[in-house]
Amino acid sequence: MLEERNVDGVWMQIPFADSTREPTKAKRRAKATKTIEIASRPTRKEAEAAVRTLLRWAGDDPAREGLQDTPRRVVRAYEEFFSGYGQDPAALLARTFEEVEGYDEMIVLRDIRFESYCEHHMVPIIGRAHVGYLPDGKVVGLSKIARVVDIFAHRLQTQEAMTAQIAAVIQDVLNPRGVAVIVEAEHMCMAMRGIRKQGSTTMTSTFTGSFKNSPEEQVRFVTMVRGAAAPR
Ligand SMILES: [Zn+2]
Repeated sequence: MLEERNVDGVWMQIPFADSTREPTKAKRRAKATKTIEIASRPTRKEAEAAVRTLLRWAGDDPAREGLQDTPRRVVRAYEEFFSGYGQDPAALLARTFEEVEGYDEMIVLRDIRFESYCEHHMVPIIGRAHVGYLPDGKVVGLSKIARVVDIFAHRLQTQEAMTAQIAAVIQDVLNPRGVAVIVEAEHMCMAMRGIRKQGSTTMTSTFTGSFKNSPEEQVRFVTMVRGAAAPR
């Protein structure tokens, strides 16, 4: 459920606070880390053969010179695009710092650029994430927040799921007073195919803990994100 709200002169769709729709921690976590057993994964050779099939389906000849190495390259690229399946964001966040001189104000990391892949068409979703949290004695290195975004981005995604997964893992592991995540992204499946709408951005947001029922905290987060941002 989304409600429209004018934040800082920008109309945003913000999830309506509705606690009955919030999945349990365990469920969210299971969903965020669900991967297939290594044993049931196809071999590299099988994956390359599948690329040759797609090349033939596209109408080309996988045996011609220019395409001979393509299946190998595509499979290698996939290894990189989907490296997030082999990484555990919860483990990454487990190391925290407690010597923060009592700092308990909002921490915001904004403009975390990412490239992900839509789970419906397997084409890129390109955008940026803004992540904030209200620490409760523990903080993590900022680069780890960026890496959490990266891990979830390097899996097949919907923007909605990715936004929720980033918030859920930070909330579960770090246990701050609240987490705020805003993701803005362009979906190549909309720009390159179907309705071919270029330059339109989808925005999603998730708020947990103190952010959830406090429009004031949400506005404070959005203001910090928009704040001194470089002109786009
Ligand atoms: Zn898509």
